[in-house]
Amino acid sequence: MTLTPRQAAVRSLAAKSSSGARLQLPEESITETYGAYVFNDAAQRKHLPRDAYKKLRRTVNLGEALDPSIADAVANAMKDWAVSHGATHYSHWFQPMTGSTAEKQDSFITPTGAGTAILEFSGNELTRGESDASSLPSGGIRATFEARGYTAWDPLSPAFLRHSPNGVTLTIPTAFCSWTGDALDTKTPLLRSNAALDVQARRVLSLLHEPTEPLVNRVFTNVGAEQEFFLMDRELFYLRPDLMATGRTLFGASPPKGQEQDDHYFATTPGRVMAFMQDLERRLWQLGIPIKTRHNEVAPAQYEMAPIFESVTVACDHNMLMMDLLHEVASVHGLKCLLHEKPYRCLNGSGKHNNYSVATDLGQNLLDPGKNPHENLRFMVFLTSLIAAVDRHQDLLRLTVASAGNDHRLGANEAPPAIISIFMGSDLQGVIDTIIAGESHHGFEGEKLHLGVNSLPNFPRDTTDRNRTSPFAFTGNKFEFRAPGSSQSLAYPNYVLNTILAESLEDLAEKIEALGEEKRSNAAIQEILRETLTEHQRILFPGDNYTDAWAEEAGRRGLLNLKDTPAALEQLNAPKNIALFSKYKVLSEREWLSRTEIVAGAYQEKLRVEARVAVDMAATLFLPAALRAQHKTADSLNAARKASQSLNLDVQVNHLTKIANLISTLQGSIDKLRERLDNPATEADAVARARKSATNLIGPMDELRAVVDELEMLVADDLWPVPKYRELLTVH
Ligand code: ADP
Ligand code: MG
Repeated sequence: MTLTPRQAAVRSLAAKSSSGARLQLPEESITETYGAYVFNDAAQRKHLPRDAYKKLRRTVNLGEALDPSIADAVANAMKDWAVSHGATHYSHWFQPMTGSTAEKQDSFITPTGAGTAILEFSGNELTRGESDASSLPSGGIRATFEARGYTAWDPLSPAFLRHSPNGVTLTIPTAFCSWTGDALDTKTPLLRSNAALDVQARRVLSLLHEPTEPLVNRVFTNVGAEQEFFLMDRELFYLRPDLMATGRTLFGASPPKGQEQDDHYFATTPGRVMAFMQDLERRLWQLGIPIKTRHNEVAPAQYEMAPIFESVTVACDHNMLMMDLLHEVASVHGLKCLLHEKPYRCLNGSGKHNNYSVATDLGQNLLDPGKNPHENLRFMVFLTSLIAAVDRHQDLLRLTVASAGNDHRLGANEAPPAIISIFMGSDLQGVIDTIIAGESHHGFEGEKLHLGVNSLPNFPRDTTDRNRTSPFAFTGNKFEFRAPGSSQSLAYPNYVLNTILAESLEDLAEKIEALGEEKRSNAAIQEILRETLTEHQRILFPGDNYTDAWAEEAGRRGLLNLKDTPAALEQLNAPKNIALFSKYKVLSEREWLSRTEIVAGAYQEKLRVEARVAVDMAATLFLPAALRAQHKTADSLNAARKASQSLNLDVQVNHLTKIANLISTLQGSIDKLRERLDNPATEADAVARARKSATNLIGPMDELRAVVDELEMLVADDLWPVPKYRELLTVH
């Protein structure tokens, strides 16, 4: 028997599973190689002149502007270090608004005449790169005729070495902007938002400052990203045009065994997957990415890995790098990593929980309730600010997680709903309720709550109750934003969080300042908190976010329920949003508006690609398979009739009728979707186009899928032209 490609792939999958995975035995200890390929503090100290080293550290640790006179020294040291590890090239690595990373590579080589060459890398080359960026999205900011883009070194995120089979590249994290200075990436606003938060947070801290305390020099955010993903066999992946083009299955009947039995979560990781994870972890550690946790997720073939939290820009860079490496290392192990938010219809999708806290250079976590009355007061001020911020800007937070992929996940009873709300846990909710009621707090052994007078009850962090259905949950000393999608960059949610928090902190600072110095008592501050919490308490919700009752209740509270990406995009240009980002110099009006264009355009394009692939697969794979099935059934009927007149063939005739009917429905669905594709949305406004595309394409795609999935369960297995869910979900 000759195997179809699919059968051959399935067979090779079986062979791989039995031969066992490629296990790499570690040669060196982790501690020896951790961060070996990062130009980190230790490498800087070793390779830089003392003075330059000190100045660079001041920039990294305190956010001071870089002294341009040390650029040459730093560049030279970086090059020497990189070359000693085999590097031949350097690259300016950046994060354009495509959602992924981009880079431009140049070699260090400089010919010196007479057939010789030296390796050179100047301060100029380190600090600024020029790239023709006309093909990267700018949302109309930069027309192609003035397509110069600049990359600017980000000294806060350390340079690192990328190894490929035939060489090593020094990779320098950079920000990316146009020649007019407009931000064309996600990192620039993130850096700017950090600066805005720093200013307002220190302003609040200085108002709460006690003379005996050391002064805070810098406030910044920490982020820990929990990355979920699916793995599948690589050969099967290439037999699915939908996965190849869109990252998700556009068709596929539910497998006989899905996640019904809840037997996958935290289960033993299969051998090949384990080998992959261990290989990946070693590479991440070498790149100074502190990967810590790994486990099986809820769906079959779904996993999660999470690093220890880091400062937000580094955490975001590291997450981007980790997504790259997930793909790269998977291929070495004969696997394919799916980062899409919803690769399989009937199974849980993948998210990326964004754990967020606010820290100072003195090592304090401002979202930690603390142990004494002073720390408690500070905590309540920051907590109240964040609650107010999330309530004021639900639309923005919703927007930061809006994408065609994530639309399949949010609100589908497996991920938080599209309604943004906050879960505090019963202890803290009790404290907040007490403050709002203006009463003493009696919940904890009669302890009174006058912030700054008596202590908050001590919350043992481990017992903070959990609410997995909440999009924004307090988890002891940090907030966990659970709505981000698995494939997205975390820069967007975090620059929005930083900016809205900065605004709320400024609001509270102004109110506290207005009290005047004599009246600035803890009781007066608590009164300000009471007013603010009262105004914004509607955003707090302790219950099950998956229920319809919550959607109704949220409606009564006036909370937004932006069900899909176009609905979120419609809020984007609200004057309050433009004013917010301009005020804190995170994004100018022009920059902000350009983002609407980009997100709306990407959404529309994504839908169109999916629709095209769906039509293509239906017309060239599934329709022919159905015709073959019809042919075989008809042949068999004819043969049976010929063999004996007395056979009862009613059931078989029914079967044939079913197939024939499905074939005509299928043809009708293909024609309909094709017709919609031929008449694309032409509205002048990008958001209106996005909405129109959704209305035009999603319904007909669902109809088409329903027919194909029904056929899949009817057509003989050997005629089905692509691997089925049961195979895609098998990785051993
Ligand atoms: P889970 O939510 O699954 O229980 P963990 O409690 O292990 O997971 O934490 C998840 C992520 O939160 C990790 O990346 C961890 O480093 C990060 N994290 C822990 N503390 C903080 C903090 N103070 N600020 C930001 N992230 C944090
Ligand atoms: Mg978590």
